[in-house]
Amino acid sequence: MDDRLFRNAMGKFATGVTVITTEVDGEAHGMTANAFMSVSLDPKLVVISIGEKAKMLEKINQSGTFAVNILAAEQQEVSMLFAGQIKEKRETEFDRIQDVPVIKDALANIVCKVYSKQAAGDHTLFIGEVQDIVLREGAPLTFFAGKYGEITERQPV
Ligand code: FAD
Repeated sequence: MDDRLFRNAMGKFATGVTVITTEVDGEAHGMTANAFMSVSLDPKLVVISIGEKAKMLEKINQSGTFAVNILAAEQQEVSMLFAGQIKEKRETEFDRIQDVPVIKDALANIVCKVYSKQAAGDHTLFIGEVQDIVLREGAPLTFFAGKYGEITERQPV
């Protein structure tokens, strides 16, 4: 099957946008990801999918912890920065929860320790056991068909 057809089909699934963060040897690393979902309530588990070429893969293998930071509508630049879509180097100040760096002003910071992992083709699925959550009010950044957007509320019927 054609790669483009597969990508286009997956792009029809509208998602939020997260930045995955972790830290190795005192150095924070972030990566934009939309392959994220909730898995289990008891225990509280989530899953992320990290490409084999991403530096994040080895970082999480080393740290055994990561945070999922769900971005707010105003945080498109943050997403672009951690997806390598903004080329110049920028200093980012992180907050910290349970000694894990997290993105400031995200709608949710979800701190996890690796519960299990599964290689799947050219990606690795990390299942994380949730250790802590911080929430904020606001509207989400969205991603659909390769473009950023935000949610507009429907008129009542
Ligand atoms: P790099 O490419 O080195 O880092 C990413 C960027 O973050 C670089 O520009 C780097 O300078 C910056 N950065 C990292 N740490 C810091 C720091 N401490 N301070 C300041 N800047 C820093 N890929 C997946 O594997 N899974 C997904 O689910 C996924 N979803 C995506 C969703 C969207 C909407 C987009 C746009 C991209 C997605 N990607 C996904 C692609 C992924 O974000 C990029 O391939 C990314 O560049 C891979 O990051 P990396 O770990 O290799 O590190």
